[in-house]
Amino acid sequence: MEKDNFVKFEIDENLHKFTKKKNIFSEKKFFLKRRSSIKDIVESFGIPHTEIGCLLKNNKELNFEYIPVKGDFIKVRGVTPPLNVKLKTKLRPVNFDQLKFIADVNIGKAAVLLRALGFDTLWEDRLDDGYIARLAESEKRIVLTRDIDLLKRKSIVYGMFVDSMEPFEQTKLIVERFGLNPPYDLFSRCTRCNSILQSVSKEDIIDRLLPKTKIYYNSFFICPGCEKIYWAGSHREKIINDFKNIGIKIQD
Ligand SMILES: [Zn+2]
Repeated sequence: MEKDNFVKFEIDENLHKFTKKKNIFSEKKFFLKRRSSIKDIVESFGIPHTEIGCLLKNNKELNFEYIPVKGDFIKVRGVTPPLNVKLKTKLRPVNFDQLKFIADVNIGKAAVLLRALGFDTLWEDRLDDGYIARLAESEKRIVLTRDIDLLKRKSIVYGMFVDSMEPFEQTKLIVERFGLNPPYDLFSRCTRCNSILQSVSKEDIIDRLLPKTKIYYNSFFICPGCEKIYWAGSHREKIINDFKNIGIKIQD
């Protein structure tokens, strides 16, 4: 192996949380042994491609297919929120028209909160990685997960390593990352199954209501998917307050 057959990488500090396990920090010399795309090389450092904001060589942006050559000096920048998935970039020439999500098992409660904000968010217990990656591609969904290996899959264009275990904090990070700004379509979706709610007359569902709900509420919605009934009760106020407490503005 030639001693100088290497590429030098400069890695942004906000990506060190992915590289520290491999003891890689600001700079990394990578020796070229075979033809590898820059996506594969950078992912071998521990960084999933979804977390990369741009790759620069001599201040020119590269795409993920670029094959580094001897002497390259490449800067690896993390995503700078908000990431606009509606814009095509050199790195991601595919754009999404809508903000739709698919959440991994460890993001279940945040998925419910995203639905409460009105965002189409698929989540079921025990979705396998292959299924998530296929749906991310076929339905143009953004993948939300804490599984770094899942985010390395090529069919995932937009995804996010959600760096928290706490559901409201996770939701806040997702809101910031993808610039999910108000006004939101609050309480327009079923938080249990993600279907869009429909209004329903009180008479049609009156035998399913608790006595106090019958007295105090007149406007109801029903989920066409799972038939759960919704109304503007105190639980809504609580969720709105919880959002406000962590800095998610509900209205402009
Ligand atoms: Zn439902």
